[in-house]
Amino acid sequence: PEFISVANLATALGVKLELFISQLGELGFEEIAKDSIMTGETAALVAQEYGFEPTVDAGEDEDLRPRPPPEDPSSVPLRPPVVTIMGHVDHGKTTLLDFLRKSSIAAGEHGGITQHIGAFSVQMSSGKQITFLDTPGHAAFLSMRQRGANVTDIVILVVAADDSVKPQTIEAIKHARSAKVPMIVAINKIDKDQANVERVKSDLAANGVEIEDYGGDVQVVCVSGKTGQGMDDLEDNILLLSEMLDIRAEPDGMAEGWVLESSIKPIGRVATVLVKRGTLRPGDFIVAGRVFAKVRSLRNEAGVEVEEAPPGTAVEILGWKEPPEAGDMVLQAPTEDKAKSAVHYRIEQKEREEAMEQITEMERLKRERE
Ligand code: GDP
Ligand code: MG
Repeated sequence: PEFISVANLATALGVKLELFISQLGELGFEEIAKDSIMTGETAALVAQEYGFEPTVDAGEDEDLRPRPPPEDPSSVPLRPPVVTIMGHVDHGKTTLLDFLRKSSIAAGEHGGITQHIGAFSVQMSSGKQITFLDTPGHAAFLSMRQRGANVTDIVILVVAADDSVKPQTIEAIKHARSAKVPMIVAINKIDKDQANVERVKSDLAANGVEIEDYGGDVQVVCVSGKTGQGMDDLEDNILLLSEMLDIRAEPDGMAEGWVLESSIKPIGRVATVLVKRGTLRPGDFIVAGRVFAKVRSLRNEAGVEVEEAPPGTAVEILGWKEPPEAGDMVLQAPTEDKAKSAVHYRIEQKEREEAMEQITEMERLKRERE
C-alpha cells in the first residue's frame, strides 16, 4: 500500500493516462511517465485534487506517545530536582558548576566527575540528590522549550555582585517566566570589593523579579564560586524549593526523557538522556525522534557503568543506530518491533508532511499563474 505507479493511479481515479500525466505536469510534477512511482502519501494528495477523499492505510504501525499523568500523583515517589544555571556571560555560571561538581567529587561516592555528559548529579550529605544541567549555551534547554517541554524544574539565576543585572540576565528572567519555572537568585562574586548586593536586589526588583527582601517569594542567596562561601546555602535552598514544588515521578513503567547531548566518542555513538519518568536499563528499547536504540550500556558522569537510570537522573547511553538530536523526546518501547515500527511511522509521517508542503507550494504557484 506504500507505493503506486502513475498508470495504476490514473486507473484508480478513472482518468485517461495521457490526460492524467499532463495534469500532473500542471500540478508541478516533473518528468512524469506512466511507470513513475509515487508514495501512497503523494498519491493520496493527488487523489484529493480529483475530488476523492482517500483514506491512508496506516497499517498496524503506530507512534509511541508519553503515558498519561498518574491518577494519584501524591502516591508517586519524589525524584531529584533538575536544575539549570542561567545568567549573563562572565557572571560565574561555569565557576559555580565547577564548584558544585567538585563538591560532589569530595562526597566521594560518585568516584569523581571524569567526563562531560551535559548533566551531573550532586549527592547531598542528607542523601538527597540534585541534578544539574551543564549544557553550553543552554542550546538543548532552549530547543526543548521551543517544543513546549520543561526539562528543568528550577532555574538558578546567577548575577555578579559587581556587575548587577545585564541583558542576558533579563533574557534568562524571561525564559524562566515563560517556561513557568521557579527561580532562585544566586548573587555571585560576593568576595569582591566592588560587590554591591543591595544594588543587584533593587535592579532585580526593577526587572520584575519578586525577591523575598522585597516581599516576594524568590529566594536570594549570596555566594562566591571562588571561595565557596554560601554554596551550602544554595544547595539547601534548592532542596527546600524542590520540597515545596513536590517533584515526583513514577520509577516504573515505560521510561520517558529528553536527549540533552549527542556525540560520537571512541566507544561509539552516545547520547545523554535525562530520564523524567520510568527507569532505563541495559537491554531497553528507546526511540528519540526518528532513531532508536537498544540500550547497550549506561554511564554516569564519572564514566562508571550503571545498571539503571531512575527519574531525575541523566546518563550517557550507548547503542544508537543513528545519532538522535539534542532536544528530542525519548520514549521507551515495550519491544524492539514496537520501537522499529514507531521509527518507521515517524519517517513516513515526515514524508507525509513534506509531500503536503510540496502540494501546498504547488497550489500556491498554480494560483499565482492564474
Ligand atoms: P560564565 O561566563 O558565566 O560561565 O562565567 P565564568 O564562570 O567563566 O566566570 C567568569 C570570570 O569570573 C572568571 O574569570 C571567574 O574566575 C570569575 N569568577 C567567577 N565566580 C567568581 C567569584 O565568585 N569571585 C570572583 N572573584 N571571581 C569569580
Ligand atoms: Mg561559562
